[in-house]
Amino acid sequence: LLFIIHCVRGVRQIGYRSVDWPESKVLEIHSLKENFRAMSDKLKEKFMEQKKYNNELLFLNDELKTAKNTAEEANASKSRFLAYISHDIRTPMNAVRGMIDIIEGDPYSSEIKEYLGVMRQSSDMMIQLLNDLLDFSKIEANKLSLESINFDLTEVLEHVIKLFMPAARKKNINYYYLIADDVHRTLNGDPLRLRQVLINLAGNAVKFTEKGEIRIEVSKNSDSTSEKESLIFKVSDTGVGISAENQKKIFETFTQSDASISRKYGGSGLGLAICRSLAVMMEGDICLESSHNIGSTFIFTAKLKKIEASTIKPNYNAPMLDVGKNLISGKNDIKVLVVDDNEANQFLLMKILKKKVNTIKLASNGVEALKLLENEPFDIMFTDLQMPELDGYETTIRIRSGKVPEYNKNIIIVAMTGSVTMEERQKCRAAGMNVYITKPFNVLEIIEIVDKFLKNDINNLNRS
Ligand code: ADP
Repeated sequence: LLFIIHCVRGVRQIGYRSVDWPESKVLEIHSLKENFRAMSDKLKEKFMEQKKYNNELLFLNDELKTAKNTAEEANASKSRFLAYISHDIRTPMNAVRGMIDIIEGDPYSSEIKEYLGVMRQSSDMMIQLLNDLLDFSKIEANKLSLESINFDLTEVLEHVIKLFMPAARKKNINYYYLIADDVHRTLNGDPLRLRQVLINLAGNAVKFTEKGEIRIEVSKNSDSTSEKESLIFKVSDTGVGISAENQKKIFETFTQSDASISRKYGGSGLGLAICRSLAVMMEGDICLESSHNIGSTFIFTAKLKKIEASTIKPNYNAPMLDVGKNLISGKNDIKVLVVDDNEANQFLLMKILKKKVNTIKLASNGVEALKLLENEPFDIMFTDLQMPELDGYETTIRIRSGKVPEYNKNIIIVAMTGSVTMEERQKCRAAGMNVYITKPFNVLEIIEIVDKFLKNDINNLNRS
């Protein structure tokens, strides 16, 4: 009996067991032994089969893992490629756009002004496309993060309304916003990204509406708490609408309702996909209701921290400038140093600055800049950040730590950057830069900086 118990335990523990109890003359025990052996052999066979499948599965799993890694790596390379290429195209585009700005200010015939208008519109579209591609590649690579800045919701909406008002007026469309009275308006979050979503939605509404009205409404959701305001933004239009079939895929990347749309209006079909990712990052989502030829309503939700009104600093971003207002006219006797490895950008800045400044010197990198600063005093230095030999950060650190004569140690340093992430801003500030501007910059931004310098008011730009 002990032998039998031993064998049964063996089966329980490892699935099968060789039958090694002694022969018995008792017929029943002999029969039990034979049957037990047959059962154990069968179990062993099944066990081995199972083991083989398990090994195959493990192997397949490894293969799947390798395939998944390869696919992820390929996707990451694609995102990197997109990021580099869009960044690199944006730099010369910046120069093209800037030159158009300058020429438009000159007294040309109406025909040439019309050509310039087309050039400006096309370059704006291209810059928008590049910005979308950059955002998209950042989202794909999980590199897009939101800022935490105190802001006023009304300012964000005012900006969105102002931006498309001329286009809406041209089409005779009523275009306005409403914020419900009980909405907490002073918030903390990423106002530029919030604005980006609203600009995308409002921009589409203006694009696809020929008559009627476009309304942006903001209300408060019931899951708001004492710390966080849960907001509902509704962007409604009375335009062409979107078919039920297209509504399903509209938030996917590279989707436009109709191929003729990209020919007519431009755009990448990335806008709404980026909006959705941004909405999710703001603890919200985005959806739509639409009927053909009646109109569409995009509903976007976001949760943002509530803050006291007094903690808001005005101008969280470059302010919209009033053309010609408060500008100091004529040339001024100040010296400016432009540091950029891109010749077209150097040229563009020089053209803009020539309107205001008598002496402008150029350097292609930090080393050349330091050499110039060694020999004569300058008032303002505009510097690119990424440059060969010595980049903008290191150049600034060397200037501030006294590697230049005393008269240049406190020169106003303006960083010219491709992006405005919090990290980049902090890095600029830590290096000792006073102001940053983002590419593509416009003529007025540069002129404003020079003016603020002349009025000894540079720190009120609030950009650093
Ligand atoms: P893009 O970046 O090209 O502007 P979006 O992702 O913003 O693309 O929009 C994708 C497509 O969704 C548009 O090309 C258009 O077909 C459709 N669409 C978006 N908003 C509207 C709207 N308000 N009315 C009609 N169609 C719209």
